[in-house]
Amino acid sequence: MFKTFLIKYGEIAIKGKNRHLFEDALVRQIRHALKKCDGEFNVYKEQGRIYVDCEGMYDYEETVGHLQHVFGIVGICPVMQVEDHGIEELGDSVIEFLTNVYDIDAQTFKVNTRRANKQYPIESMEVNAILGGRILDAFPNMKVDVHHPEILIHVELRESGKIFIYSKIIPGPGGMPVGTNGKAMLLLSGGIDSPVAGYMICKRGVKLDATYFHAPPYTSERAKQKVIDLAKKLTPYAGPINLHIVNFTDIQLYIYDKCPHDELTIIMRRYMMRIAEHFANETKSLALVTGESIGQVASQTMQSLAATNEVCSMPVFRPLIGFDKQEIIDVAEKIDTYETSILPFEDCCTIFVAKHPVTKPNLHIIQASEKKLSEKIDELVKTAIETTETVWVE
Ligand code: ATP
Ligand code: MG
Repeated sequence: MFKTFLIKYGEIAIKGKNRHLFEDALVRQIRHALKKCDGEFNVYKEQGRIYVDCEGMYDYEETVGHLQHVFGIVGICPVMQVEDHGIEELGDSVIEFLTNVYDIDAQTFKVNTRRANKQYPIESMEVNAILGGRILDAFPNMKVDVHHPEILIHVELRESGKIFIYSKIIPGPGGMPVGTNGKAMLLLSGGIDSPVAGYMICKRGVKLDATYFHAPPYTSERAKQKVIDLAKKLTPYAGPINLHIVNFTDIQLYIYDKCPHDELTIIMRRYMMRIAEHFANETKSLALVTGESIGQVASQTMQSLAATNEVCSMPVFRPLIGFDKQEIIDVAEKIDTYETSILPFEDCCTIFVAKHPVTKPNLHIIQASEKKLSEKIDELVKTAIETTETVWVE
């Protein structure tokens, strides 16, 4: 019955010349999201609105589900399309629409007609009155309420001569279309937090690239696959992600060899940030994103965060900074990354982790320890960068 979806988006935020950028990005993201659905879809802008036409067979639930992942969409309205065969037949169609969409009981309603087709022979107010009368005849228990109707029936008399009827608004995820606010580099581990951090940054319209550090043979091929799977779980929201997979083993072993073990995590994290920032610069990302939150583990105390931050000149965004673990888990469940994140594969940090890591690292001491790496570290970082594998995840 529904061949079209009208897409509602937050128009208030996008007045002026940014509007078409916002709309074009939204159209692009919708097209990308629907590529994964069965069926053929035509996504287009018309008169300051975005529509999705479903050509031929498609799965309603699946399609709505995919649209609900596209940031920038505030509401999805399933539209019944009819041809113009006069007001009598339009009345029949509205009654058919109500019968199919609602359990009609004694709801209040209002008809709201929009007459884009100025050739249409009846004024919109009169169309409202005629259709309202037909509804009251067909469903005697229903009542008109022009202020707070339970069912608001939109009838759009389109320029093309087609007529659109819709009333339901299925909520979208809100946010801004990915691609309207530049790009950021996500440090993506196999844990619970970083995919959630990526999701939250995307929600504000930021496109994502990602970097993952692994340590073969200490970390397995399956741990790496898990991170690719997590990136894939993000793509319905984020669009395609360019994932950089860095072989971190030699750097970790070298740090392990040369530096005090209670400082390993901090020093390793500082090298991760440096390398991620290198790729961020190379691929025009404007910021780094991590899944850190204050005090969650030793490497996320205020002092540790300051020590990891110090090596970057780019802003580091930590969207989970004030979240409790349970709040993070709730989002992870909502975006369906949780089950993948808890798969028990080793992480490169946990393998080299000290029993009692410093919780209040002193920056000068850390810098002094890093000096012990001066002989080989530049070469190792260079090799890690040169041997990085990039995977296009979509
Ligand atoms: P997560 O659940 O995201 O792994 P965590 O609670 O395990 O976080 P840490 O291991 O201290 O915390 O990592 C903090 C952040 O550093 C992560 O959220 C992630 O952004 C980044 N990070 C940690 N390990 C890696 C890795 N192997 N590859 C890429 N980024 C990493
Ligand atoms: Mg982790």
